[in-house]
Amino acid sequence: MSWSQRIEQALAARRAADGWRQRIRVEHNNVRELTVAGQRYRHFSSNDYLGLSQHPAVIAAWQQGAAEAGAGAGASGHVTGFSRYHAQLEEQLADWLGYRRALLFISGFAANQAVIHLLAEKSDRIVADKLAHASLLDAASHSPATLRRFAHNQPASLAKLLATPVEGNTLVVTEGVFSMDGDSAPLAQLAAETQRANGWLLVDDAHGIGVTGEQGRGSCWQQQVKPELLIVTFGKGFGVSGAALLCDDATADYVEQFARHLIYSTAMPPAQCFALLAALQQIQQGDELRAQLHANIARFRAGAADLPWQLMPSASAIQPLVVGENSAALALSQRLKAAGCWVSAIRPPTVPPGTARLRITLTAAHGFDDIDRLLEALYDAAHQ
Ligand SMILES: *Cc1c(COP(=O)(O)O)cnc(C)c1O
Repeated sequence: MSWSQRIEQALAARRAADGWRQRIRVEHNNVRELTVAGQRYRHFSSNDYLGLSQHPAVIAAWQQGAAEAGAGAGASGHVTGFSRYHAQLEEQLADWLGYRRALLFISGFAANQAVIHLLAEKSDRIVADKLAHASLLDAASHSPATLRRFAHNQPASLAKLLATPVEGNTLVVTEGVFSMDGDSAPLAQLAAETQRANGWLLVDDAHGIGVTGEQGRGSCWQQQVKPELLIVTFGKGFGVSGAALLCDDATADYVEQFARHLIYSTAMPPAQCFALLAALQQIQQGDELRAQLHANIARFRAGAADLPWQLMPSASAIQPLVVGENSAALALSQRLKAAGCWVSAIRPPTVPPGTARLRITLTAAHGFDDIDRLLEALYDAAHQ
């Protein structure tokens, strides 16, 4: 099959499965509201859970950073792209989260690829939660190690897989809060099983950091677990972008020596470090924002109990309603849009087949009137 035939065939299959994805052109987005094609919607599809992308202190810090340090880093961190602002951010992150070291990456996707590629060798095994993020599973399946997947959030399933001996080392991989389900991993039990097998635990807390735990320190802090490898990302609760790996000294040195995603890639702009330092400060002082978010979550869950779709058991900002078929999820998303609420439908392969869903996300920028309007639109759609 030629390149063109292969491409045409894949596109045709995608269309036939109601799986076509497209990027929408957003005209305005302030976390609470979204404007698309001249139409304003209440916005329930943002991962900016605390609304920090709009925070005046974060915006001012980025502006000041650009004025002081320029628009870009100009080189890889291994050449001259690593500034004192990067160093300050790494030190503060390590302090805050109780690790010896933090290493910045330009994205969570890059951090996960880098760490897993670097660590996993042929005789090793990676045992990952079945629902772990694509950036983790892709890295694991492209690595020379053997990939096994345990049943979602089931320590017993992990234990069973770990009972098989392995020649090399074991890396157990999970998320703190799951991106498409909103539930939390039982980290203490997973850590105990990992330890029993002499393995290392990697927790990707993309959706927990900033939002949960004392001072927003995330899922691991909340559950009093300290994984050998912690990944935090800055595109969600921090409202900016980028990521960091938290680990011990030797691991950080190893990553610095050998991680190609770091060595052969331009460092994040120093101005972004200014913005991230400001966002970190807002998160550390963010009890009010977290209280507003959790009040919104409680109001939504209480109001959604009688909807005909399955509301997943989630205490997080991610409140998915499982609809089932792709076409039904798309239709419901369309009906909500017609009622002025923007909620994205999430379909396979992002979620398992037959579990297409509305991924509703709530933020601290929402008020009770937004939550009530969404509930009203959902009940109207249910009765149509
Ligand atoms: C969003 C996400 C990532 C990717 O992070 P980016 O910084 O957006 O590249 C990684 N892991 C999880 C669990 C995520 O939800």
